[in-house]
Amino acid sequence: MQSQRKAVALISGGLDSMLAARLIMEQGVHVEGINFFTGFCVEGHTHAIRKHDGKRPKRNNALWVAEQLGIKLHVVDVIDEYKDVVLNPKHGYGANLNPCLDCKGFMVRKAHEWMLEHEFDFVITGEVIGQRPMSQRRDTMPIVARESGAGERLLRPLCARLLPQTLPEIEGWVRRDRLLAFNGRSRKPQMALAAHYGFDDYAQPAGGCCFLTNEQYSVKLTDLWKTRGKRDYELDDIMLLKIGRHLRPRRNFKLIIGREEGENRFLEGYRRRFTHLRTVSHIGPLALLDGTASEEDLDLAARLTARFSQGRDCECVQVEITGRDGATRVVSVPPMPVDAVPQDWYL
Ligand code: SF4
Repeated sequence: MQSQRKAVALISGGLDSMLAARLIMEQGVHVEGINFFTGFCVEGHTHAIRKHDGKRPKRNNALWVAEQLGIKLHVVDVIDEYKDVVLNPKHGYGANLNPCLDCKGFMVRKAHEWMLEHEFDFVITGEVIGQRPMSQRRDTMPIVARESGAGERLLRPLCARLLPQTLPEIEGWVRRDRLLAFNGRSRKPQMALAAHYGFDDYAQPAGGCCFLTNEQYSVKLTDLWKTRGKRDYELDDIMLLKIGRHLRPRRNFKLIIGREEGENRFLEGYRRRFTHLRTVSHIGPLALLDGTASEEDLDLAARLTARFSQGRDCECVQVEITGRDGATRVVSVPPMPVDAVPQDWYL
């Protein structure tokens, strides 16, 4: 008797990959999920940090999806390997620093490697033709299949009937007539299918699954490369780009200023690695100073920190400055007037 076939499903935490996995499970295939942590993932992160997002559920959407489906989820850290995708994308970037086509190829390749290692039979994604302008087009689908090495072991259940037959269909592991032909940007068919399966609390798509699609984030990452004189990053760099207001008053330094309590608490965890400033005479933010600063620069940084405190309209605010060596002093400064902060300082 033929043993049960096994598929590994790329699970992003969004609806499409959830539905794709569900469709294949329905055909009697054993499905396990795989989720890659690149460091740029949006989900849960800022919502979990920012206090005013407190009403939003603090959950890992990929784990939630796995739980809903009743499947095992493998979360794989790919931070280091993924750097090459971000820094040198063969197919270039999308509207911002999102290397979507290379990224898809990378993730399917990693899933395919996992599949071989664990003796699974095929890979599933939630891709839909025409859903995304860069990576999910009819002409880019074969590129991902080819460059990932997955070839005909890559099945996209949501649009499979619009694509050539894959091995799972040819071999009869799944029935093609029970796969779908979704096409285009409309989310209605997915929402109807979700309703059919009784999924009602899934994550809403918000313009991309990672920060690289975000214009402001891309500006900050470009600034980081430019001012450091090299295109590289560590995990802490890319995490900090997600948090706070980033102001660059001088080429040699920038300030990362917490916007609210949750962000201040998050920045606290990094403060020993940076010269940092906080207001002591008034309630105010924690500011990390990234770079090197002269006395004059520190004075400017203190005035800027004071500007974002509750003493912004006072004549004088006391700001505590702590160096990387832990040495602390308090200075009294006039807060920088709101309209005196040039717009181009904001990243
Ligand atoms: S949005 Fe981000 S995670 Fe999604 S395919 Fe593009 S680069 Fe990859």
